[in-house]
Amino acid sequence: MNLNIKELLELDDFSEIYDEAKRVTRDNKGNIIFTRAVIEYSNNCTRNCAYCGINCMSKGITRYRMDNKEIIDSALLAVRAGFKTIILQGGEDLEFPADRIAMLVKEIANLGVAVTVSSGEMDYESYRIIKEAGASRYLLKHETADSEIYAKLHNGYTLQSRIDCLQNLRKLGYEVGSGFIVGLPNQNIDTLVKDINLLYDLRVDMAGISPFIPHKGTVLGKLNVGNKELVKRCVAITRLLLPQCNLPVTTAYTTVNGGEDAFLDGIANVIMAKATPIKYRKLYEIYPNATQMTDILQSRNNLINLANRFGKILA
Ligand code: SAH
Repeated sequence: MNLNIKELLELDDFSEIYDEAKRVTRDNKGNIIFTRAVIEYSNNCTRNCAYCGINCMSKGITRYRMDNKEIIDSALLAVRAGFKTIILQGGEDLEFPADRIAMLVKEIANLGVAVTVSSGEMDYESYRIIKEAGASRYLLKHETADSEIYAKLHNGYTLQSRIDCLQNLRKLGYEVGSGFIVGLPNQNIDTLVKDINLLYDLRVDMAGISPFIPHKGTVLGKLNVGNKELVKRCVAITRLLLPQCNLPVTTAYTTVNGGEDAFLDGIANVIMAKATPIKYRKLYEIYPNATQMTDILQSRNNLINLANRFGKILA
């Protein structure tokens, strides 16, 4: 598609683009909002992502890891509450190697739901084992498509290895989710153009685009929150480029926005709820947020009401 992304992002008045993105969403996604229940199974992590509150250098945080039974039980509660997709998400935790994730995926898939895994970078064989166990989707945000900024924020890691992972996931037949953070240091409009183009080049099936939220336990703790209007513009342009893409209203966006604009004015078509046991939720603090403290059944009811208010149907 021949869009000048930079020009669009810099428009004084973006309202026509929002209208168009809303129309494209309606034509391709109807008025359905897909829900996902997230189980944050561990906040242990071997990675050093500079923005993330649970990175391996974060001091003074209580680390937890759920055991297998707690994870399966949490999934069961979410399925009973009506969720049809379970996301297993965690830090890159050596106690959760591919065969353990695969075992969990198999148990959860047996409950008759789709399983998405979001466990970070692994080798091809690990992704293969997890796919074979029944995971149909994988979420791995590229975080930033600028290789220099990426290298600065992830000491010792490269953007290329992130992209290689995404390509391996695609080869294995996963539905692939990526995404990026808006408001990272040294980013500018050209960086965001690269971010959106990368989503397009990868033909992602899902994209989470979030504002940066500073976490005081990290080296980026004193920066400003990412610009929510810019986030929304990025989501709208992604909708135009990839009409069928599943675009969540990210938890970070809702946090920055105080719950307003629940579905990005009709451009987002996915929303998530936490199925992590309540006692662990505050500990999975990748960024500060008003952690949802309702149990998964109550969260489901809240989502139904929210969707109704916006004339949407929850799936
Ligand atoms: N270990 C998994 C899950 C990461 S946490 C993985 O590597 O994919 C999920 C997402 O939270 C990250 O991909 C990142 O985009 C986002 N995140 C982390 N810290 C953040 C912050 N301070 N502000 C906004 N988003 C953040």
